[in-house]
Parts: sequence; structure tokens; C-alpha cells
Amino acid sequence: MKNLKLPITIDPSRSAQRKLVCEGYFEVSGMNRLLAVCDAQGEQVQVNANFSVDEVGLVVISGSSSATVTLTCQRCTEEFDSVLEVDFTFSPVKDAEAAAELPSYYDAIELDENGEVNLRELVEDEFLLEIPLIPRHPIKDCQAPSDSVWGELPEELEKPNPFDILKKIK
Ligand SMILES: [Zn+2]
Repeated sequence: MKNLKLPITIDPSRSAQRKLVCEGYFEVSGMNRLLAVCDAQGEQVQVNANFSVDEVGLVVISGSSSATVTLTCQRCTEEFDSVLEVDFTFSPVKDAEAAAELPSYYDAIELDENGEVNLRELVEDEFLLEIPLIPRHPIKDCQAPSDSVWGELPEELEKPNPFDILKKIK
């Protein structure tokens, strides 16, 4: 099986016309924002991305990726490994106005000045959304005593809005 290094940016319209299927990897070392918040296991992130045109003529980028990262439990401060698995379905847009008109089942990804999208950033953003705001072990694996001050967190911290995380990152 071929294991190709994927291009960081790609022209989605041209790729969709060719019904391109990408299977390959990105170097984790290029994902600085991800590495700022966790350690990644391994040097490559496998990515699968398909380019197509839907029945109303919209370009669609769909795919999946996974990465194993080391997070620090905020309850007991021990490190633990977590597998981040993401599935995505994007449609490239020129501007915010076009993004607002997209059907809700597509996420919008903005085209750059060359009409390309940054596939590596797209995947990295998806991983960042998967990382919990307050990483913690599953309760059975956690070393912290049950009466620890970290044992219970307020309700609103349990369910972070993923879009808030993305805003902070950007
Ligand atoms: Zn823990």
C-alpha cells in the first residue's frame, strides 16, 4: 500500500472534478497548534480525503483522520493517551456570505487567494476540536482520590462548546 505525503494545500474544485481520493499522511511536526496543547504519538497523521461535486454542484471535501496524543489529566496530573478520531464534511467557500448559504450538513472552509484550501490546517482544526477543554482520565483509571478538589467540575465546564475552543485558537 502506498503511503504518500499529502500536499498541504489543494485546489478543491479541480480535485472534485477529478473525483480525487487522497490517502496519505501529514507530518505531525507541521501541526504546531496541536503540539502546543498536547504531545503526539508517532510522527505522522494518517488522513483520508475525498473530493466530489454534489447533486446541486457544490464541491465537497469529506474524509477522516485519527491521531494518538498524550494529554495530562487535570484531576490527577498523570499523563494518558487518547485517540482523536475525526470525520469531516466541508464545502469550500469564497467568503462569509457564501458560507452562510451553505446547507447545514456542510462545514464551510474558506478558499485562500489561490482558490486552494489548507488541508493540513483543516485536519488540525478538527483534532483541536476533539481535545477536551479539561482532559481527564476515565474515572476508573484516574489516580486522584475521589474527594479531590478536582473530583467534580462545574456542569458548564463539562460540556465545552467546540466552537468556543476554535475561536480561542484562531
Ligand atoms: Zn487522572
